[in-house]
Amino acid sequence: MPLLFKKIKDLRNYLKSRRCEGKEVGFVPTMGYLHKGHRELIKLARMQNDIVVVSIFVNPTQFGEGEDYDRYPKDLERDLSICEEEGVDVVFAPEVAEIYPKGYRTRVCVGELGNILEGAFRPGHFDGVATIVVKLFNIVQPNRAYFGEKDYQQLKIIQQLVEDLNIPVEIIPVPIVREEGGLAYSSRNVYLSPEERESALAIYKSFQLAEKMIKAGERDAKRIKEAIRAFIERHPHVKGIDYVEITDENLKPKETVEKGDRILVAVRIGDARLIDNWKVEL
Ligand code: AMP
Repeated sequence: MPLLFKKIKDLRNYLKSRRCEGKEVGFVPTMGYLHKGHRELIKLARMQNDIVVVSIFVNPTQFGEGEDYDRYPKDLERDLSICEEEGVDVVFAPEVAEIYPKGYRTRVCVGELGNILEGAFRPGHFDGVATIVVKLFNIVQPNRAYFGEKDYQQLKIIQQLVEDLNIPVEIIPVPIVREEGGLAYSSRNVYLSPEERESALAIYKSFQLAEKMIKAGERDAKRIKEAIRAFIERHPHVKGIDYVEITDENLKPKETVEKGDRILVAVRIGDARLIDNWKVEL
């Protein structure tokens, strides 16, 4: 079993001794309810570091009013056994009061990148993400930290943050892990009924449709976005599409699509809000 720490002080003491022995630390921040996507991050961390730390913390400051903070799935026992299977050394699972004690005030503001796409629909979300990530980086002081491309905008914001604030950590991106039918693994997939899950496959299928259009010579982002929207919308249980956007790799919207661009979507299906993205390969 991995060591389980709930207190910052205990985790710090442990990691301090490991660092004194010259060990390198790989860090995988998560909100728990681990799945195969998380496993890939952990596997890579395991390969590249002496010590692997996984944090499990559902961060209240990145959830908006009316979002799913209160019902976000949790299962620490199961998470611990997954971490054991993946050879994790340390799990850090603090209580909210440990991270945000009374009198806590400071918040990291990420600026423009945090206001577009997800940020336009979840105001303050990325400031909350940046705040917890900076705190966790200061607590763990990892050599490397692993982030999934599943949350592409988050990855970009963290890369910018680390550069802007001179945080000495290497950010390692990990490609999206998908289920057999193409649905990206997400802890939030538990919100889907079997029928809704079927409809959720439309997201991946719409990326395939876009890829096909592009391969056939279509380069007009507007037409591709419209085709994606129309395709997803005609599936049952789809309550709405928050956005379909095509950007360059730095999240700048594109009019003409090129290799390496990203298609990003957020779709509300049943009680779930799913995000996904696709790298245009050509
Ligand atoms: P979460 O627990 O959802 O906050 O995710 C923790 C980390 O795992 C983030 O860096 C996510 O981008 C990453 N992640 C979640 N799902 C996937 C997936 N299907 N493929 C790759 N990475 C993922």
